[in-house]
Amino acid sequence: MLRMIPRRRKLMSSFRIEAAFLVLLLLTVLAIAFRAPLLNRSLVFNARSGNYKTLLYGDANMGGTSTAWRERSRPLAWSCELRAAYDYTYCGFELLMDGTRRQKGIDLRRYDTIKLALSYEGPARSLRLHLKNYDPRYSHPSIGDGDKFNRIDFLPKGKSGEITLPLSDATVPEWWLVQNKVPPELSQPDVNNVIAIDIQTGGGQPLGRHHFQIRSIRLDGVLLSTEQFYLCILATWVTAIGLFFIHRISCLKRDVEARRLLQAALQCQAEEAERAAKIDPLTRLLNRSGIAEKHRELIDRNAGPLTAMLIDIDHFKSINDTLGHSCGDEVLASFAGILKRNARDGDVVGRWGGEEFLILCAGLDEEQALAYANGLCRRIRYFHFGECETVTASFGLRTSGQASLSDVVSDADFALYAAKERGRNRVELFSNELRRAA
Ligand code: GH3
Ligand code: MG
Ligand code: MG
Repeated sequence: MLRMIPRRRKLMSSFRIEAAFLVLLLLTVLAIAFRAPLLNRSLVFNARSGNYKTLLYGDANMGGTSTAWRERSRPLAWSCELRAAYDYTYCGFELLMDGTRRQKGIDLRRYDTIKLALSYEGPARSLRLHLKNYDPRYSHPSIGDGDKFNRIDFLPKGKSGEITLPLSDATVPEWWLVQNKVPPELSQPDVNNVIAIDIQTGGGQPLGRHHFQIRSIRLDGVLLSTEQFYLCILATWVTAIGLFFIHRISCLKRDVEARRLLQAALQCQAEEAERAAKIDPLTRLLNRSGIAEKHRELIDRNAGPLTAMLIDIDHFKSINDTLGHSCGDEVLASFAGILKRNARDGDVVGRWGGEEFLILCAGLDEEQALAYANGLCRRIRYFHFGECETVTASFGLRTSGQASLSDVVSDADFALYAAKERGRNRVELFSNELRRAA
């Protein structure tokens, strides 16, 4: 079970992108299926919405005697009796956005139409809708008519009428401009801060009784056109696909880099293994195959006469026998150290096998090679090997031109044998006389 969890997690993370695309697809389908609220915005006022206050008024403040009263039994319903005491007799009903403060209204620029579900019974053939806009540049809250009248005249449609009015039909009446001394630059319709939606009988209406009921007022606007909507969806998908490709490319780059690093590490390992295959683990000198490779390099370089110096520790077996094998190992390691320290630049120093070592040195004639070997022989003789104290070694030398490794080693071995024969702890140089004497 515990092992299942990381595997499942890995599986889930490898399908993350597919899951994201699936979610995006689902969102796209949902957005298309339910696009209406995404494309359109609307604002509704009705008896239940509660987002307004109301005000009913008549023409009494202008000296008229028209009266208006609410129909208590029905919501948002009022009646009005227009009487002839005043030339421009009227009564009206306001939905107030900011109560009686009349300053903080709503911005209707984002809406295109206003739909009135208005029941009307009475003699009027046309009614008025006012969108009253507050702006401190022209509004005077102390004066009732200070807010800009954006007026749309409309024909009532009886008891169950529905009237749709484009907001662009609104105009500012001449009397309001004159009365408020509004300069021309502020005379255009203005609905950015509507503090009241007002339904009025308007001037010169037939006298008598008028009955109204607002069933609802609905403002509609377009948030996004259909083209814009599908363009948004297209842009989302193009972005998602673009991001997916960027992600894939960066993943591929990461993979390539990881592979490159792995390859470099493997190559390093292989080179290390190859190097290790040519090194003797006890003495850290070249082994036979390492020596053979270096010999080839010396021959290829044509580095002059080549001397093979085969060195064998004298009576080494008795060291093992008397002091133990590990002490013998220590002597071998110390012996290798002496050879290495005294070698010249370019000399090839290796362990030929057992207690036998081989030095290949280029560019020495026989005399120089003998001097080199004798010096080394003396150093070994006087070196202190710890528990074992002192050891000696015998040297067999062969200096030649371009001979094969086996040939020079065979001749050096012949000379080494002579050195052993002649009492050990000495150097012998191979010569034809030596062979004849044998
Ligand atoms: P000589 O002077 O004639 O060369 O006598 P020697 O005893 O040195 O030569 P011999 O060939 O009789 O013995 C060599 C010994 O070296 C035998 C072998 O056990 C020992 N030997 C070879 N390799 C190792 C090694 O890696 N470690 C140890 N401790 N001994 C080794
Ligand atoms: Mg030997
Ligand atoms: Mg020996």
